[in-house]
Amino acid sequence: MQVNTLIIGAGAAGLYCAAHAGPGTLLVDHARAPGEKIRISGGGRCNFTNIHAAPQNYISQNPHFVKSALSRHSAADFLALVEAHRIPWHEKTLGQLFCDRSAKDIIAMLTGMVERAGAALWLETSVVDVAHDGTHFRVTLEQAGERTVVTAQNLVLASGGKSIPKMGATSFAYRVAEDFGLPVTETTPGLVPLTFSDNQMAPLAGVATPVIARAARGPAFPEALLFTHRGLSGPTILQISSYWQAGEDIAINLLPGAPVIDQLRAQRKGAGAKSIASVLGGLLPRKLVDVLLEDWGLSGNYADLSDKALQDMAQRLGDWQLRPTGSEGYRTAEVTIGGIDTNALSSRTMEAKAVPGLYCIGECVDVTGWLGGYNFQWAWSSAHAAAIAIAGR
Ligand SMILES: Cc1cc2nc3c(=O)[nH]c(=O)nc-3n(C[C@H](O)[C@H](O)[C@H](O)COP(=O)(O)OP(=O)(O)OC[C@H]3O[C@@H](n4cnc5c(N)ncnc54)[C@H](O)[C@@H]3O)c2cc1C
Repeated sequence: MQVNTLIIGAGAAGLYCAAHAGPGTLLVDHARAPGEKIRISGGGRCNFTNIHAAPQNYISQNPHFVKSALSRHSAADFLALVEAHRIPWHEKTLGQLFCDRSAKDIIAMLTGMVERAGAALWLETSVVDVAHDGTHFRVTLEQAGERTVVTAQNLVLASGGKSIPKMGATSFAYRVAEDFGLPVTETTPGLVPLTFSDNQMAPLAGVATPVIARAARGPAFPEALLFTHRGLSGPTILQISSYWQAGEDIAINLLPGAPVIDQLRAQRKGAGAKSIASVLGGLLPRKLVDVLLEDWGLSGNYADLSDKALQDMAQRLGDWQLRPTGSEGYRTAEVTIGGIDTNALSSRTMEAKAVPGLYCIGECVDVTGWLGGYNFQWAWSSAHAAAIAIAGR
């Protein structure tokens, strides 16, 4: 069988590429349904883009790589498409756009576009072998025990990263890329809860509070922190997990807003005979206060605290240093950090510089977005860049 373009992986990037790549496109996936991660994303409502998506929201060994694709097919372009398909949406917070109804609206939009573009979609199809005969890719596919050799001018790797293997994630794209001589950078789980082997905060599981957190090598993220049985989660921890490296501390400001010392001094007025626990309980969840005060060996009346004692407390609350022992790993990670080395790809077309006709898009590339719709925007932008190049070939 001969096709112009074979796309492996019918997730966000593969579907979007198939919708724009022109005639003679075959899209294959080993899963039973396309876009499974879209379906479960954003708590079932799919945070499909972020209106502020910009290069600084992405992690890559080459931070400039995303610029071209993001600017040529932006969040506004994807949003225009969502609106043209009359999908109701809303901005939740910080530019994050979600479906009002269900993530299934986005999947239906994409599969409809693929169908109207005339691309074929083969599900429950595995890839047995990928080869190149000097002019074309020769890919052996297997469906219900039957093998088909597909000859394609263009091969698009869109099979995603390693996160959530239970949902069908594989290292396929990395293996094929390496077989064709493309380097792959080290991969680690990203947007993932952090764990502590001796989790002394386990009694706080379920407690949430707004904080500003940062890893040693990353920016500060102001969002909610959630204590879990195994450690820490919540949007702020997922964000910093993408920058955290084993053996490093994370720093948490438990009292974001005004300078911590000013907040603590302000509490002196009207503290009367109130205990430290009761006063701090007005600023932080009481359960957390109790654990912290026990750890610091602090009790007594708030009004009796010296200015030096307040300053020590401000330091501890404003710069709480913790050393995670690990993360929950690919089992729960939303994304994979690292991937196919961007130096091997054209930032304009996503085509491998040394292998004409081989394209790499979406999460399998060494580009990882922050939490908040940035990862889907990368899937749309990189898929569009490749598709336009393929359609124009
Ligand atoms: C729980 C969760 C929630 C998320 N929520 C959001 C969100 O709200 N907003 C956001 O921007 N990002 C979110 N993400 C991240 C986002 O889902 C990914 O960044 C995005 O799906 C990547 O798109 P992709 O097409 O590159 O890969 P995927 O969407 O993972 O698609 C890859 C496809 O390839 C197929 N495949 C894999 N290996 C093979 C193989 N060997 N043979 C054949 N097919 C194969 C898979 O079955 C899959 O269909 C979330 C991720 C998770 C896990």
